[in-house]
Amino acid sequence: MSLNEHALDLPLFSDLPLRAELLAVVDELGYTRPSPIQAEAITPLVEGRDLLGQAATGTGKTAAFALPMLERLTDLRPARERGAAPFGLILAPTRELALQVSEAVTRYGARLHTRVLTVYGGAPVGPQLKGLHQGVDVVVATPGRAIDLMNRGALKLQDLEMVVLDEADEMLDMGFVEEIETLLDATPDTRQVVLFSATMPRRIETLAQKYLREPVTVRIAREEAVEGEAPQVRQTAYLVPRTHTTAALGRVLEAERPKAAIVFCRTRLDVDAVTETLTGRGLRAEALHGGMDQEHRTRVVERLRSGRTELLVATDVAARGLDIDLLTHVVNHDVPQSSEAYVHRIGRVGRAGREGVAITLAPPSKVYALRNVERLTGQTIEMAPVPTAADLRAARLERTREALRAELETGTPDATDGVDAMIAGLAEDFDPAHVAAAAIRLMTAAAGSPDDGEDIPVVSAPRSGARDARGPRETRGRGGAAGTRAPKAGTTRLFVNAGRASGVRPQDIVGALANESNLTGRDIGAIQIHERHALVEIPEHAADDVLRSLRGTTTLKGRRANVRRDRGFAGAGAGHRD
Ligand code: AMP
Repeated sequence: MSLNEHALDLPLFSDLPLRAELLAVVDELGYTRPSPIQAEAITPLVEGRDLLGQAATGTGKTAAFALPMLERLTDLRPARERGAAPFGLILAPTRELALQVSEAVTRYGARLHTRVLTVYGGAPVGPQLKGLHQGVDVVVATPGRAIDLMNRGALKLQDLEMVVLDEADEMLDMGFVEEIETLLDATPDTRQVVLFSATMPRRIETLAQKYLREPVTVRIAREEAVEGEAPQVRQTAYLVPRTHTTAALGRVLEAERPKAAIVFCRTRLDVDAVTETLTGRGLRAEALHGGMDQEHRTRVVERLRSGRTELLVATDVAARGLDIDLLTHVVNHDVPQSSEAYVHRIGRVGRAGREGVAITLAPPSKVYALRNVERLTGQTIEMAPVPTAADLRAARLERTREALRAELETGTPDATDGVDAMIAGLAEDFDPAHVAAAAIRLMTAAAGSPDDGEDIPVVSAPRSGARDARGPRETRGRGGAAGTRAPKAGTTRLFVNAGRASGVRPQDIVGALANESNLTGRDIGAIQIHERHALVEIPEHAADDVLRSLRGTTTLKGRRANVRRDRGFAGAGAGHRD
C-alpha cells in the first residue's frame, strides 16, 4: 500500500477482514479500493452484525454483502463440512437482478469453491429442485419462487446463517412483503440479516425493525459511488444505430481530430474492418493485433508517438501491456462488456494531469449500460447525436479560419513565391473577398469531402427503465375511451382478468410478469388498470414467450388471474370497458 493512499485515509481491501482468496479475486477484477459502502459494511458484516444499508445499484453494494458472506461461509463452514442446506439466501426482486447477483457471488467465490444456485419464477422448477437437492452454499432467489421451493421442502432454511434482502424497496413495491416475511420467519433466530434498499420508506423501516437486531446502518448517496480508476476526462457517448457505427466513428474522429487515439473494438474482425474504413477516409489508422510480437507493437506505438499514425485500432487483449501514456483519446467502437472494462479503457487517457477525451459509440439499447458506468464512476457521460455532414463542414471551415488567421498574424510574407503578385493581378478584375473565397473553395475541394455522405439516422436515448424510475408507469382507464387507446408500434397488449376491484396495482403486474417470465421491468410498457381487468403493453416479439412461461395464469394479490392476448386490440372490435 502506498503512503499516498494512507495519507488520504482511503482504506484498501487489504485493510478489511477478508481472506487472501477473496483479496486475490478483487485484485484480478481490477478493483483498486473498496467503494464507500464496501469500506463501511464489510467489517461489521464479517463480524456477524445485522445491517441496514441505503444504497442504489452502482455503489458496489453487491460486493459489500457478497464478500462478507463468502468470508463467513468459509470461516463457519469449512468445505468438507458442508451439507445440502444453504448457508446464505439472497432475495432479489427480479430474475434479472437475481442472475446478476449470482454471477457476482460466483465470481467473488471462484477461489473458495462456493456452490451458488439461482432460482426464479418462469423457469422450469425441475433443475432448480435438482440443484437444491445436490446441495448449495448460497441461493439467490426471487421471493415467489423461494416460497414455492420452500413449500416443496426443497429449499431448507433451518441451517441458514445469513439472509440478504437486495433492493428491498423494489420487492415491497412488487407486493412481495408477505413472501419476505414468511421466508424470514422460517429462518433460525440466530441468522444475520442484511437489508439493502435504494430508498427508505416507512415500510422498509418497519420491516427492518421487525427483523434486524441492532443493525449497523450505512447510507451511501449515489454521488459517492465507486470511484474506480476513472480519471477526470471528458466523456461523450454518440448515439447511433448499430449498423451505422463505423460510419459514425469516421465522422466523430473527423470532428475530434485526435492527435493520438486508441480505438477499441470487440473482435479482431471488427479491428480489420474499422481500420480499413478509417484508412479509406484518409485517417492514419493502424491495426494492433493480438498476434503481433512485442517488437512490432513497440514500432506501432512509436509511429503513434512520432505522429506518423494517429489512430491505433485494437481489441482489449491486443492493447494489453502497451505503454500508451501519450494518448489524447480513447474511443470505444462498441460499448464495453462491463463497467470495469470501460473504466480500464478510459484510464489510459488523462494520466498525469493531462487532458483526455473518452468517446463511445452506443446504440440506444446500451444507454442503460452507460448509466451504470456513470453511477460507478460518479462522472457524467454526455450523450450526443453523431455530428452531421454539415457539422463537419462547419468544423473544417473553422479550422481553416484559425489557420488563416495564424498565418496572417504571424506568417512572414514571401515576395518571391509569386502569390502576392498573383493576388494583386486578380484583384484588378475581382473583389479581393471573392478571390479569397474562391481560393478556400478550391483548397477544400482538393482536400476531398470530409464525409462519405452516408445517411446516419439520428436516435435519442430511451427513457430510463422501470427499475430506475421509482414505480412503473400507469395510464389509468378513466372513462370508456382509455380501454381502446392503441398500444405503441411493436408492442402488443395482454389482458389480465383482475383489476382495481381485487386491489391490483401496476407494480403488482410488473412484479408478476418480471418474476414469472423473461420480461424485465424495462420491457413492460403502459399498464391500464380497470375495475375488473387490466391491460399491459409488452414487446410483440416477447409475447409468445411470456404467454408460454405463464401458461395462461399468474398470481396477483394472492389469487390466480388469467392472462391472454387482448382480443380487443387484436382487431375484434372495441376494447374492454368497465
Ligand atoms: P453494484 O452496485 O453492486 O451493482 O456494482 C456496480 C459495479 O461496480 C459492478 O460492475 C461491480 O463489479 C463494480 N465494483 C464493485 N466494487 C468495486 C470496486 N471496489 N472497485 C471497482 N469496481 C467495483
